[in-house]
Amino acid sequence: MVKLRGWVQLFSAVVWNPMLGNFISGHIYRGKLKQICIPALNCYSCPGAIGSCPLGSLQTVLADPFYNFSFYVIGYLLVFGSILGRWICGWVCPFGMIQEWLHRVPFPKMLLPRWMGGVKYGILAVFVLYLPMAGAKSLGLGEPAFCKYICPAGTLEAGLPLLGLVPGLRSALGSLFALKLFILLLVVVVSFMIFRPFCRVLCPLGAIYGLFNPVSWYRYQCAREACTGCGSCAAVCKMGVNPAIRPNSPECIRCGDCLRSCPQGALSSKYGINSTTEAAAAE
Ligand code: SF4
Ligand code: SF4
Repeated sequence: MVKLRGWVQLFSAVVWNPMLGNFISGHIYRGKLKQICIPALNCYSCPGAIGSCPLGSLQTVLADPFYNFSFYVIGYLLVFGSILGRWICGWVCPFGMIQEWLHRVPFPKMLLPRWMGGVKYGILAVFVLYLPMAGAKSLGLGEPAFCKYICPAGTLEAGLPLLGLVPGLRSALGSLFALKLFILLLVVVVSFMIFRPFCRVLCPLGAIYGLFNPVSWYRYQCAREACTGCGSCAAVCKMGVNPAIRPNSPECIRCGDCLRSCPQGALSSKYGINSTTEAAAAE
């Protein structure tokens, strides 16, 4: 399953970015398919991208004073979140895959302080929701603040390739790009030591999908009568989850490592609506 997940991640990255010729010409595809969001974080301006990033789309509509609410983007996130939760992060997000590759580099590994997982909810509230809407109200047009000031996926997938391909863009480089490059380099270096630091600390899309984990259709369960409390599952979890206690933690990306590690077979995945008693016990 480890290999299967790796192949699915790679396949998804190609499916979201099939316009490979644009990596030579320096164009951005702007056809009809760009009106459709893909479920994962993949920059709209990436030369290879065929669809839109849901986070970028959400900020764009919130920043426009004529669209106070986007039923399409919100509905899209609700549908994918309520069916799959953070399975999307673990299996079909290209930027998550890149961080996992970086983490394989031999380097001393570290644990992430648990409280840092809460930072992404603040970034969601301020940069994705508040700033675009506040700009739309006070200035008449807001800006996609997360994309503009933070998103390292955009810097890697769009900023750097376009700078290499379109010489005219280089004269426009300034302190904002320096900030974004610094954030990207920080994520790259920290990824050597910590598993998926961007997903765990900064990603607002992971924050949204994580909120659905406890109620999503695809979910995990722990058979209490079979679990001996040995801790093997928590020991293998690189996202810092103890699935014996919280099988549907918002931090779980459904990688499946814990399912394979349990000597008792107490952990399993399932599809369907959660029963009230199980939810109360598990969460
Ligand atoms: S709880 Fe299990 S499936 Fe979730 S991230 Fe940890 S090891 Fe992966
Ligand atoms: S590995 Fe299995 S038996 Fe051990 S604590 Fe986790 S769920 Fe329980």
